[in-house]
Amino acid sequence: MDLQQLKQRLSLLDYLRQQHWTLRPAGNSSEFVGLCPLHPETHPSFYVNAQKNLFYCHGCGQGGDLIRFVELFQHLSFRESLAYLERPNPPSAESAAAVLEETTAFYQRQLQDRGEARLYLEQRGVSDPALIQELRIGYAHGGNLRRHLTAQGFSFALLQRAGLVSRQGFDAFYHRVVFPCCQDGRVVNLYGRSFGTAFPHRFLPGSRGGLFAWGAVRQFPTVILVEGLFDLAVLWQAGFHNTTCSFGTHLTPTQLRQLSHPPGRRVFLAYDQDENQAGQRASQALARQLRLLGAVVFLVMLPNGEDPNSYFIHGASAADFARCLEGAQPL
Ligand SMILES: [Zn+2]
Repeated sequence: MDLQQLKQRLSLLDYLRQQHWTLRPAGNSSEFVGLCPLHPETHPSFYVNAQKNLFYCHGCGQGGDLIRFVELFQHLSFRESLAYLERPNPPSAESAAAVLEETTAFYQRQLQDRGEARLYLEQRGVSDPALIQELRIGYAHGGNLRRHLTAQGFSFALLQRAGLVSRQGFDAFYHRVVFPCCQDGRVVNLYGRSFGTAFPHRFLPGSRGGLFAWGAVRQFPTVILVEGLFDLAVLWQAGFHNTTCSFGTHLTPTQLRQLSHPPGRRVFLAYDQDENQAGQRASQALARQLRLLGAVVFLVMLPNGEDPNSYFIHGASAADFARCLEGAQPL
């Protein structure tokens, strides 16, 4: 592997993030500053230019490229540093989480600028700015993510491995409202809902991290389980913060385990009840599984084959939904 390829594969900033370096933007968009990893200091004087892939410390006077940094930081010779960097090195959980975190923040900012995305959210019954902020809902216009992330020092290879861009460099998400899926405080996946009906649902490859927002919902002894994130959004907006989402009707082993611990948790299934009864069959099958694992399961019936999202869009209030919960049948 030649030097240029090596530097391309792992950017200096990726490497620093893997070493848990804490950074903040400095002035122009591709410069970052933080405490120097090479000498003790209390005021940040270590600068990284992500575009040039170079660092310089005003405290100790050291500077250079990624290889120079590894030489100094790991106390290796030039040749040893090259060997160290050439090891097959899967993206660490830290760098994958960092790139998804930055993408989430970027899409959140885009939502502010794009009227069409806010209009779509309103049509889906989601209008509360505090909720949009809390769920970190964003908008992927498409075509601009790669440039933004590489200017932030993320390598193209990392973006590809995260599934954010294709091999040809095209964004995974175009014209989609985006919800980040988090686990243990980290963004582990993104869900993108297109405005149209063709390929409406899309996730990045890899884990979705169990039930949505489980960190916030697990404290409740009674939870409401819905299929889709727009169902969840309207219920949170109406005050039902004990709602979680399974991204469909088939639960992963992790999701089943989450719902059934501790045993005795009351689970209200609020799945789509479509006319061909596929939804009801899915609910019955899931209820059986959950009961065996120790949960107490109820089926929420909404009027006229509504799902929670359409029910609120068609004018239901929190009190209406609370009545449906009261009338829920034990399964
Ligand atoms: Zn220094």
